[in-house]
Amino acid sequence: MFHKVAIIGGGAAAATLVSELLERGTKPPLHLDWYAGAPEPGRGIAYGTPSGEHLLNVRAASMGMFVSKPGGFLEYAQERDPSVKGSDFLPRRLYGDFLQSRVAQAIRNAPALGHDINILPLSAESLVPSSDGVTIGYGDNEARADAAVLAIGSLPPRPLPGVEDAAIASGRYVVDPWPFLAGAVDDDRPLRVLVIGLGLTAVDVLLELSRRWPNARFDALSRHGKLPEPHLAAASAPADDGGELVDAMRDDPNVRAWLRRLRDATAHAEDWRTVIDGLRPHTQALWRDLPRGERARFLRHARWAWERARHRMPPQVAAKIASLEKAGRLTRDRGRMRSVHLTPDGVLDVTRGVPGGGDVVQSYDVVIQTVGLNTDTQRTEHPLIRQLVLGGHVAPEAEGLGLMAETDGRLHDASGKPRANVFAIGSLLRGTLWESTAIPEIRKQAQALANLLLSPDKRR
Ligand SMILES: Cc1cc2nc3c(=O)[nH]c(=O)nc-3n(C[C@H](O)[C@H](O)[C@H](O)COP(=O)(O)OP(=O)(O)OC[C@H]3O[C@@H](n4cnc5c(N)ncnc54)[C@H](O)[C@@H]3O)c2cc1C
Repeated sequence: MFHKVAIIGGGAAAATLVSELLERGTKPPLHLDWYAGAPEPGRGIAYGTPSGEHLLNVRAASMGMFVSKPGGFLEYAQERDPSVKGSDFLPRRLYGDFLQSRVAQAIRNAPALGHDINILPLSAESLVPSSDGVTIGYGDNEARADAAVLAIGSLPPRPLPGVEDAAIASGRYVVDPWPFLAGAVDDDRPLRVLVIGLGLTAVDVLLELSRRWPNARFDALSRHGKLPEPHLAAASAPADDGGELVDAMRDDPNVRAWLRRLRDATAHAEDWRTVIDGLRPHTQALWRDLPRGERARFLRHARWAWERARHRMPPQVAAKIASLEKAGRLTRDRGRMRSVHLTPDGVLDVTRGVPGGGDVVQSYDVVIQTVGLNTDTQRTEHPLIRQLVLGGHVAPEAEGLGLMAETDGRLHDASGKPRANVFAIGSLLRGTLWESTAIPEIRKQAQALANLLLSPDKRR
């Protein structure tokens, strides 16, 4: 086993792994250095939101933190409000409370098992692996560990091509919606707002800002102009185990054939969601077997449709968005943003291509970019990932889906060899696993990685 492990990241993935490790009775005990990046770790981006508008998009019964206790979150929520049901979509900030309380409990119990943990509210800025361990740089300091785990979530978003630097510098073009939402204040001016992208982040932005800015009007622009699909009000069981469909997809790993089979299966299902949910336990294996060229085809042509079917809105959220549209406060457009220019009078002129050809220009007071998770490790400014990539210590995934890795989380070096002592969990593994960002996957990865880190044949 590795005795001294560095865990880098301050969100749900790091909190889950720290808790998994600290609750094991290992001999000799463990020492953990947790580079948490912030003073109160555990919530990360998704569960750090203070807004009551922001709900989990997974039902309470499925949000347990540990594989061994899948109902843990539901119990926690019911202790506070007995009327909560397993099928409810609860506020994400409650989930953040839950994560923090569970990791705090694991930290409190650690000394009784002989473990110790050092929580550093700092970012790890460099990591140099060698055959006998890793050296982590933070601030002006360095520390050694036997192994390190990257649990850093997705990378900071980058501005879309065509956005002028002056537009970003003005503060009116928002590249990262989360800090912007955290600092947004009530404003009753008749603001004109454009949201670029129409996934779940856009939905969060629309819910929060339409409440805080009651006289604002919103346009939302995306390639297809479609919102995420809604969940059903009542939980539906996944279609059997997807067995027959999965076997057929495995036998013919070809995106066009997959889409045909999915269309057939959903046409015969009582509700199409049961087919998508039935695939979930098999998605990682299907992705693994998909040839490289087919993966690229999926990302180009089918990704958007998969994302909106798979990452759905709670029904009450869908109803709020529908009422914004009905009241004329939200319009959705199909098209592609071409450029954003800051005019001398301080507004943003946005040029967008419209379907069928031609461009239109519209003026906005604020433009917010919500184009999904960034996992492009080749082009990031994230200091640690940049240092790791430039130093050849890890290998970027060619399609921008994190880092090259084994399915157990061991990262590859630049020559394609799995490293023995540097691991990742969560979004950085998208290229290897595809389905690797939500809690049901993260808790499985945390359990498996804890087993691997503590296995007796990993001697240090
Ligand atoms: C808005 C939103 C809503 C979501 N809702 C759900 C949901 O309802 N259900 C669900 O299952 N999943 C949901 N997800 C998926 C979500 O990604 C995961 O559930 C989970 O939050 C991922 O946690 P993480 O720790 O991997 O990443 P993050 O939450 O991104 O945490 C990573 C943390 O590491 C820090 N960090 C980065 N670099 C360093 C460094 N060098 N040193 C130290 N710290 C560093 C970052 O600042 C960040 O705080 C949602 C995601 C988003 C964005």
